Amino acid sequence: MIITIDKTAGFCPGVHRAIHKAEKELEQDNELFSYGSLLHNELEMQRLQADGLRLAEKDDMLLLNHKKLLIRAHGEPPETYMLAKTHGVELIDATCPVVKRLQQKVRRAAEEMKKVKGQILIFGKQNHPEVIGLSGHAMGLATVISSAEDIAALDLSRPVRLFSQTTMDSDHYNAFALFLDEEIRKYQPEPDFISHDSICHHVTKRVPALKKFAANVDVIIFVSGKESSNGKKLFNICLEINPETYFVSKLNELRTAWFEHVNSVGISGAASTPLWLMEDVAAKIKEMN
Ligand code: SF4
Repeated sequence: MIITIDKTAGFCPGVHRAIHKAEKELEQDNELFSYGSLLHNELEMQRLQADGLRLAEKDDMLLLNHKKLLIRAHGEPPETYMLAKTHGVELIDATCPVVKRLQQKVRRAAEEMKKVKGQILIFGKQNHPEVIGLSGHAMGLATVISSAEDIAALDLSRPVRLFSQTTMDSDHYNAFALFLDEEIRKYQPEPDFISHDSICHHVTKRVPALKKFAANVDVIIFVSGKESSNGKKLFNICLEINPETYFVSKLNELRTAWFEHVNSVGISGAASTPLWLMEDVAAKIKEMN
């Protein structure tokens, strides 16, 4: 049986960089804080926590005096940087450079919109940390929207700059931007509307590569944390292409019956799945057969 690990699976560059920064800090110091998980993978988080990573809440800033706080790849609103300064917290900024550039773009657009009483719309998930960070950079002008229904509550006679959370689905975003453009035209004969395609290329490139991978093996083992929305989305894409797709988070979830009379197995995972876990899964499948 041939077992192949999907070369495009595993950490995206932003998550990879954040983990690398955390590991480097933990090598020098045995304590580092972060607001919530660095990624949606329980086993990888357990590994980092065993090395000294501690999870903190936003309200804990007061208690982190002289301690180090890692800013995750999702980024943070400017308020976090100000609070850290006020309370003597050392920040290790692991905001993904793609997200950082987007925050700057949102800020520039907000400055422009402020002058013309315009608005910033962010197409994304309301409580997603990246969206909270982006909204914070919009100087109070942002509204988060996730579907066409949300448009009804907006004043579309005012100028609009539209951005997307970096991990949204490209097709959904494009359809939404098109619909919004049509709606704005009902209120503005010459629309002052710009749609910024801010979806991360790493996310858009991944889907066609995964479809190809899933079509070329008999069985797919998709490895991901159960909480990862990226993992759920990519798993469903595999399942559509290859009905013999199975989701696992841990080695003990593998079943011998999945590999009976099978010639090829592909192992793939979410943007938060560590390579070491996919390698462990490959080794375990070999052992089972
Ligand atoms: S998905 Fe893209 S934007 Fe988001 S952290 Fe990864 S590389 Fe950065």
